[in-house]
Amino acid sequence: MKRWYRAWQRTRLGTRITLGLGALALVVFAVVGATMTGIMHGYLDRRLDEQLSKSQNTQLPLLRETHGSPQSVFSWYSALYRVRDGVATPEPGGKLPEDAKQLADIAAEAVNGDVTRNIRLRDDGPYRVRACPVDNGSVLLSAAPQKDLDATVQQLIWVEVGAFAFALAVLLVLGRLVLRRGLRPLADMAGTAHDIASHDLTADPDLPVRAAGTGGGAEVEELRTAFNVMLAHIDTSLAAKTEANERLRRFVADASHELRTPLTSIRGYADLFRYAAANEPAEREAHLAKIREETARMSVLVDDLLLLARLDARAAETPLRPERVDLAELARAAADAFAAGRPGHPLTTSSSAAPVDADPLRLRQVLDNLLTNAAVHTPPGTAVHVSVAASGSEAVVRVTDAGPGIAPADQERIFDRFFRVDDSRTRGNGGTGLGLSVVQSLVTAHGGTVSVSSEPGRTTFTVRLPLAR
Ligand code: ADP
Repeated sequence: MKRWYRAWQRTRLGTRITLGLGALALVVFAVVGATMTGIMHGYLDRRLDEQLSKSQNTQLPLLRETHGSPQSVFSWYSALYRVRDGVATPEPGGKLPEDAKQLADIAAEAVNGDVTRNIRLRDDGPYRVRACPVDNGSVLLSAAPQKDLDATVQQLIWVEVGAFAFALAVLLVLGRLVLRRGLRPLADMAGTAHDIASHDLTADPDLPVRAAGTGGGAEVEELRTAFNVMLAHIDTSLAAKTEANERLRRFVADASHELRTPLTSIRGYADLFRYAAANEPAEREAHLAKIREETARMSVLVDDLLLLARLDARAAETPLRPERVDLAELARAAADAFAAGRPGHPLTTSSSAAPVDADPLRLRQVLDNLLTNAAVHTPPGTAVHVSVAASGSEAVVRVTDAGPGIAPADQERIFDRFFRVDDSRTRGNGGTGLGLSVVQSLVTAHGGTVSVSSEPGRTTFTVRLPLAR
């Protein structure tokens, strides 16, 4: 039983459906055949009964008058019985088989009314017997053979079996063909899936195949669409993953590179310091100051890297401590610091209250980075303007400078990590290329956006943050 079940589970869907169809057809054929045979049998039985009673009814009047012997039609048996004390004896002249005992019993029973019976004679096979009372204790009995009737029914059964077997064979063959055609799209899809499985996605992340073809019915079409949507989804996910990996790789490479520069400088200055300690003590301090400067640059870089990594992880330990703050106040404080630290850049401000739920230290970092850029990437004397306003559901901060601006091609990449406009004007101003990346990551972490618009003489960085409710 278990082996059968396992074999059934291994059979293909097409074969299963065909077999199921065959079994169903077999049941239908059996029911139809049995019903037809039954109806035919009943009909022939009734015909024989009618013939029996008709022949008896024509003989009865004659017998009543003459009390002679009945006529025997065809190969029928026929006799007139006299019944005395429940025992029937045949009158001479009738036609009876050798073992007529059963007939005498039926005749004895029929003295009170018509009796119809099926009997089986020893030599002649099945017979239909009809007995009816004549008068004063006489009974007319006729027996017609059922052999022909049975033969007819038998023939019908053979015809049925033949026709049904043929129909079943045609059904199975055609069904198998149609099913194979219908299931071909599924087989094709399985083939596609196999192709993808044998494709090395790490070497070439572009999935080369799709389940092609059309038709096959609504369900197959649906499945194909779902299949292709899934493939497209995997495709984009893989692409995104590859892209993220590539970005990370570049980030690590850039970070190492950026860290190597101050390290090399420090090593160089350390050598110089050792040399100066022995030969030119006056220059020692200068070398020491350089070492300090490079170390400070390095720690800024490492701080920024750490902050970016944490913001990227967006884990529970997000380095933000949000509280209700007024952005206008923060901007004023940043502006004061800027005015004190960068007297070469005239600064103007305009602000109205804009309360936000944010980490004040980090927002200050955003403002400082933008203001520092406006100072270091523009010539001395360039005017800078900071504005804070609430607009709709947003707090909007704008840092504008009247500097030379940023080329449109660079504007797209300006927020990328380690991106610096390679320009003799900005080179050597100590930037790490992380300032705007940090701004963008911090603003995004606060649920806001940052954008730039720039033309010569007017560069504006716009930060939008959700207003506190
Ligand atoms: P960093 O300032 O450390 O170089 P940033 O990410 O802050 O790095 O800026 C990236 C680049 O964008 C800078 O190198 C500079 O060329 C350009 N940039 C930023 N702000 C301005 C500005 N206000 N005016 C002109 N160029 C700017």
